[in-house]
Amino acid sequence: ALNCGIVGLPNVGKSTIFNALTSAGAESANYPFCTIDPNVGIVQVPDRRLDQLAEIVIPQKTLPTTIEFVDIAGLVKGASQGEGLGNQFLGHIRSVDAIVHVVRCFEDENVVHVNGCVDPAGDIEVIQTELGLADLDTVEKKLLRVEKQARSGDKKAKDEVDFYIRVRDLLGEGKPARGIAESDEEIVWLRDLHLLTDKPVLYVANVAEDDLEGKHPAVAKVIEIASREGAQVVPICGRIEAEIAELEGSEKQEFLADLGLKESGLERLIRKAYELLGLITYFTAGVKEVRAWTVIRGSKAPQAAGVIHSDFEKGFIRAEVIAFDDFIACGGESGAKEKGLLRLEGKEYLVQDGDVMHFRFNV
Ligand code: GDP
Repeated sequence: ALNCGIVGLPNVGKSTIFNALTSAGAESANYPFCTIDPNVGIVQVPDRRLDQLAEIVIPQKTLPTTIEFVDIAGLVKGASQGEGLGNQFLGHIRSVDAIVHVVRCFEDENVVHVNGCVDPAGDIEVIQTELGLADLDTVEKKLLRVEKQARSGDKKAKDEVDFYIRVRDLLGEGKPARGIAESDEEIVWLRDLHLLTDKPVLYVANVAEDDLEGKHPAVAKVIEIASREGAQVVPICGRIEAEIAELEGSEKQEFLADLGLKESGLERLIRKAYELLGLITYFTAGVKEVRAWTVIRGSKAPQAAGVIHSDFEKGFIRAEVIAFDDFIACGGESGAKEKGLLRLEGKEYLVQDGDVMHFRFNV
């Protein structure tokens, strides 16, 4: 499964947000909820479309899909130089598919700020510098090896060397490697380096309890930095999210309404993280269960079937597909079938977000 690592300086609210994420919905009894590891949490992806499907199908149970979050604490200045722990933290970041970077935008004299005061630009720079230095090290090692090949007359290696030099120079300017690859070839070279600054990033501006609208100038600063990088920002208040996560059903709705919100900040964060990872959802809608499943955008029908069971992929014959809006507008499968909106799709079908699918397969 694809996952997001939560990073940021100490005392910015990472654990508070991680704990809120993993405790929200933990009580919904029909979900096999588990925490793999104290720092890894499986989080349900809220999706109102599931309720709409359930209203029509009236299933015995409804199951959301999930994504994984990893709390990566301990990234501090000097991590890229540090042997032991520093390297370990960077290793954790290397293993995630996307980064959620939490930036402190709340003042609280009871919570020590590592650099003395709320300073998003400075905080972001510290983290990016550590990631960039680790990447610089990776690229330089790679360069040494490939330069040797280039000297022995390998033409391809020469092009590769030129590319790595470009990457090295960019990192040397303190910029992330993200987006530097221009050709298909370069995209492969870059991907093979597994650079930390090549991973997609989403910023979380952690605001104070009395600043849910994010009026603190720190938030504007985060937005400015993020937009320069083409990244998104989700302002949330970790403390309040922790409270919301404890509530269920109507209690939760009332609490949100009192705050003037339609959904919690965590719900927004989960959705944005899902997008960042390039994930889409398809549904199965039977009377036993209505369920959401995750595939990477661009997946074909057999791969989607494989998410349910590998046998479904191996024996894939066809998929019966109804677009979500059609399913709802026709009041379910039989209505959609009558109107000719149930399609039979083959192996090359590109799954669309919201497809309601039923697979036919050989066993
Ligand atoms: P981490 O080191 O980044 O994981 O930070 P923690 O989640 O442990 O939070 C550090 C401290 O900041 C704790 O005392 C939290 O209660 C506090 N904190 C976290 N989020 C907020 C917030 O939104 N507002 C305020 N006032 N304090 C917060």
